[in-house]
Amino acid sequence: MKVLKNVFRLESFRPKQLEAICAAMDGRDVFVLFPTGSGKSLTFQIPAVLHTTGVTVVVGPLVSLIRDQVDALLKIGVDVVKLGGEQSDRERQEMSARDRLWSQDKPRLVYLTPEQLRVPPTKKLLESLYNRGQLVRFVIDEAHCITDWGRRFRDSYPELADIRKQYPKTPISALTATANAEVERDILCRLDMRDCAQFRLSFNRKNLYYEVRPKKSKKCLEEIAQDIKQQYAGQTGIVYCLSRTSCEDVAKVLREDHGISAKHYHAKMDHRDRERVQREWSEGKVLVIVATVAFGMGIDKADVRFVMHYSIPQSLAAYYQETGRAGRDGNPAQCILYYSFNDVRTRIDMIRKEDKSDDEKRWQEDDLWTVARYCMNDVRCRRQQVLAHFGEKFNPAHCNQLCDNCRDTRPITRMDHTEDAINALRLFESLLRMCKRNSGITKSQLVYALRGSKQKALVEKGFNSDALYGVLKSLPQATVDRLLDEMMVEGFLSSSQVQVGEYNQTYLKVCMLTISLRVIPTLTQSRLRWATKRLF
Ligand code: ADP
Ligand code: MG
Ligand code: ZN
Repeated sequence: MKVLKNVFRLESFRPKQLEAICAAMDGRDVFVLFPTGSGKSLTFQIPAVLHTTGVTVVVGPLVSLIRDQVDALLKIGVDVVKLGGEQSDRERQEMSARDRLWSQDKPRLVYLTPEQLRVPPTKKLLESLYNRGQLVRFVIDEAHCITDWGRRFRDSYPELADIRKQYPKTPISALTATANAEVERDILCRLDMRDCAQFRLSFNRKNLYYEVRPKKSKKCLEEIAQDIKQQYAGQTGIVYCLSRTSCEDVAKVLREDHGISAKHYHAKMDHRDRERVQREWSEGKVLVIVATVAFGMGIDKADVRFVMHYSIPQSLAAYYQETGRAGRDGNPAQCILYYSFNDVRTRIDMIRKEDKSDDEKRWQEDDLWTVARYCMNDVRCRRQQVLAHFGEKFNPAHCNQLCDNCRDTRPITRMDHTEDAINALRLFESLLRMCKRNSGITKSQLVYALRGSKQKALVEKGFNSDALYGVLKSLPQATVDRLLDEMMVEGFLSSSQVQVGEYNQTYLKVCMLTISLRVIPTLTQSRLRWATKRLF
């Protein structure tokens, strides 16, 4: 309590902080699974400050994250150093940090990136500390990177698994805000934390409102601008975009056409520009930041009132993290996702073009389909859907009407679209046989054909001679469109890009799954409200 008040200048502990601190003081391995912003850092920082005979080693994935934490600690007078920081006066700082660690007068904490653990002088330093019994604890911050990043991003985090072997007597703290049961098990297993004390908090963010809105391409930006001007005038927010260029474009429109204080932020900017924009935003000189996913890890701004997704997020976990930057002060904040199936396709094309292993691409596609399913599900509580993804059971009665689906009072009536789906597949296959080589059928053509359109392009190809032409005439276009989207999400139909003259045309194709398993989707509907179910 003394350290909390006198050093950190905080009034009281937040839930489970004290328990986790006590477990660390007892020298146990500690696993902390709290949502972002709930105060995981304190669970190792207070024990580190109290442990005056040794050094706590904190491994973090990002230099910028480390810098923020170190700066915050220095400000309140905690003795801390970092190794392998940024370019600016690196050598001088590096020398003195190392000198301090070798000296009698040691700092309480040292922060470093996982890559540093491989650097020979750092290794030597840590071994020497260990041999003299002065290595108090290893802290693995953002511990999900051990598995997540091992799978996707970089090699060094998984190597952390060796610290248990190299320093068997040193206790470990693993901290994360992103773990489902599988990831959690993997973290504990890799770090060999068999008998650890575990602390968890619910991931529900009570003060956030979640909504998915249809994205009408041209009007969408206008809608966002009006929303910002009317609902969030003078308030801080983030608009996430898919690409660098769209960040720049969107920020420009908001700024120049609507007079909104907005700036863009993405990874390809000069790092000084990037830092400047982030600082201006943190200090409230810029209100709206229009950013790619490069923005956000480790930002700690309490009064973000809205997070908008101008394009589909990469995964539900990413969506949770990105929206989690809103409302950290506990006051109401809104998370609006603009969804269009086109964005899913654009993103799929991007993934397929990336220089990555096939496995990795498949994971990314799967993650994306999960988000598409989330967006299209306008029945189930959003919170329940997101939290289920983290293995947390959530009772929608506790949503307090803070999501669009819980607010929607229209009755849910179920309708079976299995027959419609089968007919759609039959007509599609039959039309495909009428197509010339190297040509195909686009999704909108199939929608038109299913609804019996008299469009010249379709009639000229003789499509209307098929017995099933117009078989879904009685359904509204939006419903047929939705049916095909659902069939793509569930993997019965897919699309592929074909070069036609100068353009890329996206044609539909039937998936192997559909052919080999004869799997038929059952789609249930209520007046344009849907839930999907698989039927074999
Ligand atoms: P996490 O790592 O879980 O995302 P942090 O440790 O960075 O969260 O803490 C988030 C914010 O909460 C910080 O600004 C921190 O000062 C604040 N905080 C942490 N614990 C407390 C507390 N007991 N009382 C008040 N503020 C706290
Ligand atoms: Mg943290
Ligand atoms: Zn809800």
